[in-house]
Amino acid sequence: MSTFDEIYQKIKAYPTIILHRHTSPDPDAIGSQAGLARALRAKFPDKKILCAGENDEGDLAWINTMDEVKPEDYKGALVITTDTANTPRISNKNYDKGNFLIKIDHHPDVDPYADMSYVDPDAPAASEIVVDFLNAEGFEITPEVAYPLYAGIVGDTGRFMYQETSAHTFDVASQLASTGINITEIARNISDVTFAQAKLQAAVMDYMTVDPSGAAYAVLTQADLKKLGVTEDQASVTVSTPGRIKDVIAWNVFVEKPDGTYRVHYRSKGPVINHLAEKHDGGGHALASGANAQDMDEVKQIFAEVVDVTKKYNEEHE
Ligand code: AMP
Repeated sequence: MSTFDEIYQKIKAYPTIILHRHTSPDPDAIGSQAGLARALRAKFPDKKILCAGENDEGDLAWINTMDEVKPEDYKGALVITTDTANTPRISNKNYDKGNFLIKIDHHPDVDPYADMSYVDPDAPAASEIVVDFLNAEGFEITPEVAYPLYAGIVGDTGRFMYQETSAHTFDVASQLASTGINITEIARNISDVTFAQAKLQAAVMDYMTVDPSGAAYAVLTQADLKKLGVTEDQASVTVSTPGRIKDVIAWNVFVEKPDGTYRVHYRSKGPVINHLAEKHDGGGHALASGANAQDMDEVKQIFAEVVDVTKKYNEEHE
């Protein structure tokens, strides 16, 4: 792994820097990308700094929108990805057209695809790593920089709830909040849902099956989504719903895609599930992962595996 200083030397050396993040973005993907881009723009006004992505930011356009990036911009450029563990998940496939590639991430480093990387799976958000980088290298953190980074941290920590949230996370959040950003607005933008999304959350509660082990799952079909006018990405707000139940320890939400396959969400309060996701064209964090299922047989197989690890976890923690 490289140091912040080594990354900074590369940043100083390149006139064009293009920042990429992951597909189906969440607040940490957009926030880490935008926060770094804005800090670089402020410090290096003569460099061309661009945010690339497939314009799929959707409901997250309040954090940042993408720039127009032309194929010729990549000539001799430095490309930096944030929050993106593997190449299939990088939004906009031109990421390898630059001159040098840097990865800044907080997922397990299963795919070390970059020329240089800074990866810390213990960090709760890529945005926290970006703040650490900016502080280490003497960048000024203005409200414009702080806003997306705070959004990223609130998003990926589940409002400071999930396991990797640390005292350092609160120090970083405090530093960002002290720039005067509207932290209530950010928290509301992240947690408020539309009435249709709330109904979908209710459907997940309604459909949910809970195994005696504490493993749970629910399947949302295209018909459910269409009835409520909710897109597959917007359906992601249902993912934390089963975890609100005390007895639920690990769970899946399966969301049917238009082609009849399923996007799979894994969440856990203890049993490690990312190795399970890796078996199904996915991956992610120890307690929060995503994958894909071809059909209902694979859906059933995936849930059986979650039941299995949950039972083992219970035996080990009796
Ligand atoms: P999600 O359930 O989509 O919110 O994703 C949870 C975590 O798993 C995030 O950190 C994602 O970056 C990661 N993830 C989701 N889908 C995939 C995938 N197909 N491959 C690898 N990582 C994924």
